[in-house]
Amino acid sequence: MKVLVVGSGGREHAIVTAIAKSKRVDKIYCAPGNAGIAALAECVPIQAMDFEGLVNFAKDEAIDFTIVGMDDPLVAGIVDEFEKEGLKVFGPRKNAAILEGSKAFSKDLMKKYNIPTAQYANFDNKDEALKYLETAKMPIVLKASGLALGKGVLICNTLEEAQDGVKLLMEDKKFGDAGNTIVIEEFMTGREVSVLSFVDGKTIKIMSSAQDHKRAKDGDKGLNTGGMGNFSPSPFYTDEVDEFCKKYIYQATVDAMAKEGRPFVGVIFFGLMLTEDGPKVLEYNARFGDPEAQVVLPRMKNDIIDVMEACVDGKLDEIDLQFEDNAAVCVVLASDGYPVAYEKGFEITGLDKFDDKEDFYCFHAGTKFDESGKIVTNGGRVLGVTATGKDLKDARSKAYQATEWVDFANKYMRHDIGKAIDEA
Ligand code: AMP
Repeated sequence: MKVLVVGSGGREHAIVTAIAKSKRVDKIYCAPGNAGIAALAECVPIQAMDFEGLVNFAKDEAIDFTIVGMDDPLVAGIVDEFEKEGLKVFGPRKNAAILEGSKAFSKDLMKKYNIPTAQYANFDNKDEALKYLETAKMPIVLKASGLALGKGVLICNTLEEAQDGVKLLMEDKKFGDAGNTIVIEEFMTGREVSVLSFVDGKTIKIMSSAQDHKRAKDGDKGLNTGGMGNFSPSPFYTDEVDEFCKKYIYQATVDAMAKEGRPFVGVIFFGLMLTEDGPKVLEYNARFGDPEAQVVLPRMKNDIIDVMEACVDGKLDEIDLQFEDNAAVCVVLASDGYPVAYEKGFEITGLDKFDDKEDFYCFHAGTKFDESGKIVTNGGRVLGVTATGKDLKDARSKAYQATEWVDFANKYMRHDIGKAIDEA
């Protein structure tokens, strides 16, 4: 088989690494890819939003299966464009990717189908939003409805903060059109857990759980980022939580989408908050999480192509999805200053130390080759250093050990990834 992966981050490197293990695949392409992916796949310089370029490439190269890792092209309808040309592609169509593309849609869906989530109201008018705030309980959460690189969520402690937040989203358009509609939501407390799943339109199979660290600094301080590291499984995702979610959240979401005439095929990422009243949905994503993919996929026993093909063919019920009885921890090495301002273009050394080491992975996120062929930093999140181990503590100590193997100017990481493991 010839496979094309669309995307260029650590998530796509983890997907490509899983595909490279498949006995069914002879050749992998990645568009546009990055310097790490280039060791496993042929990177082609076509951007993820260039649908025409990608479809033409898939036709010219007789690609058998395309896998889309990123949210932007999915929400914009890349899957529909491939299907129009009779090309086999893994991911939700535009009318299903709206589950991530519009938080207002997903909140209304949960309400209609009684899926547990925070109380909320949607607004496309700034004055009405401001009026609503006057009688709302603080703290309160404001969310840009559209895609905002995971940064369109504001947690406001006072009425003034919330009023400023509404103006920032709806008047100053801090996140562009993503803030044309906003969700104002009840503030919830509890632990957060991420659960990824494969879905074929009707059947859903849950992958092993994970737990993210979204804030930039140790002790969960600093700004929200795309994610500074994570671990899998989460010790807080107990059998009891699993049972509740299976009963009230997972299948209910898949059935709701099917009933709405929007059958979902691909990966649904459930962002869950374990509240005192039970698990509630914080958000849905319509693709693998990044870095969640980096700790979940190395633990998956199945051939990823078998599973993804079963999703597209509507035969996921025939798959016995299995994970290793181990654990994984990922520590993100970022450029100092991320997520605000940072420099790029510094040489990365020590990457070869990961070669041929079984339990260690160095997933590239923001890297590229410079003119002389050296691998240099090319983004805020640069590398995802992942290790598997017999348990979470073992995996954590191995992952932190491996963060010392690589170096680049302005290297920055959190030192408390997986701290929650000690509290479990
Ligand atoms: P989201 O993109 O909707 O998952 O929001 C990003 C982050 O904001 C979440 O991972 C939570 O840490 C936080 N958050 C979102 N919604 C709420 C809420 N209703 N209550 C408390 N925290 C929230």
